Amino acid sequence: MTEIYFDCASTTRPEREVLDVFQRVSLEDYANAASTHAMGNRADRLLEKARSQVASYFSLSPQEVIFTSGATEGNNLAIKGVAYHCRSWGRKLITTKAEHPSVLNVFRELEKEGFQVVYLDYGKDGRLNMEALESSLDEHVSLVAVMAVNNETGYVFDTKKVYDIVHAKSRAKLLVDATQAIGKESLSDIAYDLLTFSGHKIGGLKGSGALLRRKDVQLDAQILGGGQEFGYRSGTAPVPLDCSLAAALRLALRSLPERRAKAKALNSYLRDGLSKIDEVLLLSDENATPFILSFALREHKGSIVAEALSNRGIYVSTKSACSSREEGVSYVIQNAGYPERIARNAIRLSFSGKEDLEEGRLFLEGLGQVLDRIRKED
Ligand code: PMP
Repeated sequence: MTEIYFDCASTTRPEREVLDVFQRVSLEDYANAASTHAMGNRADRLLEKARSQVASYFSLSPQEVIFTSGATEGNNLAIKGVAYHCRSWGRKLITTKAEHPSVLNVFRELEKEGFQVVYLDYGKDGRLNMEALESSLDEHVSLVAVMAVNNETGYVFDTKKVYDIVHAKSRAKLLVDATQAIGKESLSDIAYDLLTFSGHKIGGLKGSGALLRRKDVQLDAQILGGGQEFGYRSGTAPVPLDCSLAAALRLALRSLPERRAKAKALNSYLRDGLSKIDEVLLLSDENATPFILSFALREHKGSIVAEALSNRGIYVSTKSACSSREEGVSYVIQNAGYPERIARNAIRLSFSGKEDLEEGRLFLEGLGQVLDRIRKED
């Protein structure tokens, strides 16, 4: 059975070169980077080289790169780190209703501790309510968190505009969760004070990631210990993983134009095919990233269709992978203004940019067969 994997926003297959780096560093330079002997120094040099490489892609200095286990850890550290550091004057925080649970659940926790959190709305066109952002900003806001690309619908939020508004109207810092944007959107389109991403979404390894923190952003560390990662993330540095992240980023950025063009072609081919199916309602608007295409089946539960597709070797997501095992509706889609029924019936296709049109054709064929069967059973 040919398998079709349209679930790259959940995770991607690691690049062979990334695995080679991981293996080589693991086997040859396995010393603790904090050890003072020659072998430790060698590991430390590799770690710092990886840091400098990551920094250079973002035009940052190495001190502005904190290696993490991924975006979840990065988001927790950035949000709690800034909120706690600024708590004497900043009791107000702003985010959007579309954020990933690794952002939203941290804000909910902070609300319980007495912080006020404003959750910004957005529309079906994926546009954030900038007027609400402007009117919510005041001298008590320490942090604004807005994702670059939404993981369920592919909405692209205008972080440059958000950045300008935040900096014009307050002394708050802007955290951008760029997990679905790195290696997909142009880095020059993303403005931030803090930025998070995960390696495994870009052909890297699970458990690797980084938090970028511009020099003037002050944070309280959340993991205390030996003081690694400039004191922000104690624990023995996973040098092989950190080197693998630098390699994954290099490869993803190098292949970006080519993959983006391929994703665009596949996306418009699928949009075309899907719009010919009566039951389908496209949810990703034309401005969404080409790497994510979300749609709903008006009358059929997304989870049932996804399971039937999976039985045919076609892998897609309903809601985000992190929560799709729970029965329920997508809050991202519901908050955009769709009824609960649509938010329950959503299916997400997501690509790496390596897939070809033939896979798109097979997907449409498989979906057609699944819908035929469901219609007969109804
Ligand atoms: N933010 C976004 C937008 C995501 O899509 C994800 C992964 N689904 C995360 C954060 C969390 O990433 P990880 O699970 O690698 O920590």
